[in-house]
Amino acid sequence: MDTKLQELKRHLQEVSDLDSAAALLNWDQTTYMPPGGAAARGRQIALLAQLSHEKLTDPAVGKLLDDLRSYEESLPYDSDDASLIRVARRNFQRAVKVPASFMAALSAHMAESYEAWAKARPQNDFASVRPYLEKTLDLSRQLANYFPGYEHIADPLIDYLDYGMKASTIRAIFSELRSQLVPLVEAITSQPPADDSCLHRTFPEAQQIAFGTDVIRCLGYDFERGRLDKTHHPFMTKFSLGDVRITTRVDEQDLGNCLFSMVHEAGHAMYEQGIRMELEATPLAGGTSSGVHESQSRLWENIVGRGRGFWEHFYPKLQAAFPDQLGSVPLDTFYRAINKVQRSLIRTEADEVTYNLHVMLRFDFELMMLEGTLAVRDLPDAWHARYKADLGLRASDDKDGVLQDVHWYGGYIGGVFQGYTLGNILSAQFYAAALKAHPEIPAQIARGEFGTLRGWLTEHVYQHGSKFTASELLARATGGPLNIEPYIHYLREKYGALYKLN
Ligand code: ZN
Repeated sequence: MDTKLQELKRHLQEVSDLDSAAALLNWDQTTYMPPGGAAARGRQIALLAQLSHEKLTDPAVGKLLDDLRSYEESLPYDSDDASLIRVARRNFQRAVKVPASFMAALSAHMAESYEAWAKARPQNDFASVRPYLEKTLDLSRQLANYFPGYEHIADPLIDYLDYGMKASTIRAIFSELRSQLVPLVEAITSQPPADDSCLHRTFPEAQQIAFGTDVIRCLGYDFERGRLDKTHHPFMTKFSLGDVRITTRVDEQDLGNCLFSMVHEAGHAMYEQGIRMELEATPLAGGTSSGVHESQSRLWENIVGRGRGFWEHFYPKLQAAFPDQLGSVPLDTFYRAINKVQRSLIRTEADEVTYNLHVMLRFDFELMMLEGTLAVRDLPDAWHARYKADLGLRASDDKDGVLQDVHWYGGYIGGVFQGYTLGNILSAQFYAAALKAHPEIPAQIARGEFGTLRGWLTEHVYQHGSKFTASELLARATGGPLNIEPYIHYLREKYGALYKLN
């Protein structure tokens, strides 16, 4: 059995290495590559995607997985080996349903589509990306249809990123959450808006990056196993457990933009950096779902990074970094500013309370496009109409409308947005469980100490990588299933105090 397991691991390590090489090319494309490199880069990434897919779907892998079944059954469910075989089998069974040539075509199209979007967005030119998006929708449906027997055509796509979830489950969670959020948004926005002018003075880029770097180092992001670069749309990427990179963007007239995106991406990265080294280069060496991944970024960004205690520690340091801009601004004014709730147009800049409304409408649009009830050509108008209905605002152009997010232009359509809201819900569940075990955490955060919280997360979430599904992980860490109550409670407490709601 041991030789068969070693053979499986060697095979999967090659899959992982090919994927990491593709991720590196992708990182380069979105950070330093000159525009002239686009065409060749698309081809190169597509080749690696095809090779990885061929290697993963090699019949020899299927044979090894069959041969290892009795060994797997002899092991405890949560052992590394049983988990490796189980997750590898799931990936294999999914991958063999999709032809390698399709994966290559999809990947090549995504690279071209991303380039088209990167040019189109600043020029507010939806017409130029429309053919790409139409092809993306076709390919997305084709991908889903490799998995017949679904309840909703989005289900197989949702399954890629949030394994075990379905459109119907997510719709139910979202509608329950929505019924709680809408009155809260109403109650807050009927009051005079918070004054956030202190965030919109001029904050030079170098100082913003330096401050953000100090903050995330303090939270626990390991620069010996990571680095920070600039990009249009911040993200985290990983080439091995020893190389987990993050990117950010800087707006000199908006202090929150760079800082909170750095904390957010560092949250993703700490999850990956916290995975046990024994899982390196296996299918277990990554976060388990988009919802759980996002729970970690948002826990650090929002629950910690936009919390009062966090700024009791960091605000004097921020004032020292920007004495002219913030020296005379009291902590309370700053705290209200970074938690300003308002109906807005841009998802990535939305506050915690309205954020999920941005996600829900995207999720609905994905379902409608895949069902065929919304055509790509009608998407820009549908977008404006839904923003008007849900957030009371209409963007003056598509740049801040349907072109604002990279997702549908750099990936397939279906299942790519729900993780943000699932992540918000889960972040509150994980944090509540950590607090139950360690009630001293808030006081520690106010002293700039994050080790206890990070330690709890490492023990209950990070170290396991993908050994457990999201629901298994949640049950082990919190003792129960997904539940919106801790999140609603968190929002009510925090914003109830900020806006003096009853
Ligand atoms: Zn994220």
